[in-house]
Amino acid sequence: MPASSAGPSHCGVAIVGAGPAGLAAATRLRQRGVGSVVLIDREPEAGGIPRHCGHYPFGMREFHRLLRGPDYARRLAERAFKAGAAFLPATTVVRIAPGPELTLSSAEGTTMLTADRVLLATGVRETSRAARLIGGARLAGVLSTGALQSMVYLKGLTPFRRPVILGTELVSFSAIMTCRHAGIRPAAMVEEAPRVTAQVFARALPALTGIPLHLSTRVERIVGTTRVEGVVVTGPDGTSNEIEADGVIVTGRFTPEATLARMGHLAVDGASGGPSVDQYARCSDPAFYAAGNLLRPVETAGWSWQEGVAAGDTIADDLAGKLPQAQRGVALRVDHPALKFVVPQRIALPCEGRDAGTAQMRVTTPVRGRLTAESGGRTLWSRHISALPERRILLPLGDIAREAGDNVEFRFVGEQ
Ligand SMILES: Cc1cc2nc3c(=O)[nH]c(=O)nc-3n(C[C@H](O)[C@H](O)[C@H](O)COP(=O)(O)OP(=O)(O)OC[C@H]3O[C@@H](n4cnc5c(N)ncnc54)[C@H](O)[C@@H]3O)c2cc1C
Repeated sequence: MPASSAGPSHCGVAIVGAGPAGLAAATRLRQRGVGSVVLIDREPEAGGIPRHCGHYPFGMREFHRLLRGPDYARRLAERAFKAGAAFLPATTVVRIAPGPELTLSSAEGTTMLTADRVLLATGVRETSRAARLIGGARLAGVLSTGALQSMVYLKGLTPFRRPVILGTELVSFSAIMTCRHAGIRPAAMVEEAPRVTAQVFARALPALTGIPLHLSTRVERIVGTTRVEGVVVTGPDGTSNEIEADGVIVTGRFTPEATLARMGHLAVDGASGGPSVDQYARCSDPAFYAAGNLLRPVETAGWSWQEGVAAGDTIADDLAGKLPQAQRGVALRVDHPALKFVVPQRIALPCEGRDAGTAQMRVTTPVRGRLTAESGGRTLWSRHISALPERRILLPLGDIAREAGDNVEFRFVGEQ
């Protein structure tokens, strides 16, 4: 794997994050003839989250076959390096500034890197126990799915035998598969909502693996003296009981890893948690782009990879002077509690013959009803939707952009 500890002081495109999105963009940029492309990752190896996910399914979109996460990550990295991208491993980008200018930190010290363009592809992180306000002492044996996977798959450790899994997002089922791989038998799966969040095929997994599933159930506190000994939960009828357990896996509720954007000069969208972008994935400083899960929590690896490919193409066009300069922006925002976010947050006009593409939306609760895009009191677009949280809703931006004023609000009217 190519590695450079010294690294260049200037490059064509600096890519922060060597996960599926960053690696896809690096490959595409090199295929498009962009001279120097530098990938930077705080981890010692490229590949991002899939490096830790020793299970299927990865790779259908990219390699037309089912792969385990580590094999998928290795293939993506090999592709990027073969295409000529350079890699700075074990190097954290601690600051971004206009220029673009990056401050890098590694075992060798702090260095500066300037670039013609920067792509941010720093992914997401899981919400911690503290952020979920779960009571009890700080005990050994409370892990996120990512931490569990890295212990099991990268270090061969078995951190507990009977954990309780909190959450039912897709990643929660990844936690089940990781437990099975390590011979761990979860004591229960606990979900606050009345239904499982993940897609249909994953819903059967707790039953198939014999794990009791508790819906409409709230975690009150984690009990124990030094290690986890149990989890106190309150069920739908209001009664509390303690589930005996020696660990807790806190899964999902991802937030974009947008610290660099937030601490730097880029606009961040409070609804998605990621940097605010236009339909070309350009940030508020047009020399910076964003791709992958950083844009919004949380997508599949294949989707993030596709966004990386698209960002690579757009940045190559930009460097060649072929990207339309924004003369006017249309701000997009959600205007109903059931609507969680819309990405991109603005449409740059004119599109000059380019397809305005699609926007992604998510909902906060299960919904059925009419979604409309309105501007200046006029309805520009409308569609019936039936959607669940964490499912992708795609909206045609071309239809919406055509007659939009300066602002477009997405509204929702639910069916009785
Ligand atoms: C537990 C789990 C299981 C999953 N299982 C599946 C599955 O089975 N199939 C599937 O398709 N998808 C799965 N996913 C989703 C998939 O992993 C993600 O969609 C994908 O990894 C997103 O790619 P990305 O490049 O946007 O971000 P990531 O893969 O998160 O990569 C981001 C990279 O940025 C680096 N980074 C962050 N900040 C900095 C910084 N400041 N400086 C330097 N480097 C930085 C990180 O080290 C990381 O390598 C799973 C996700 C999780 C958490």
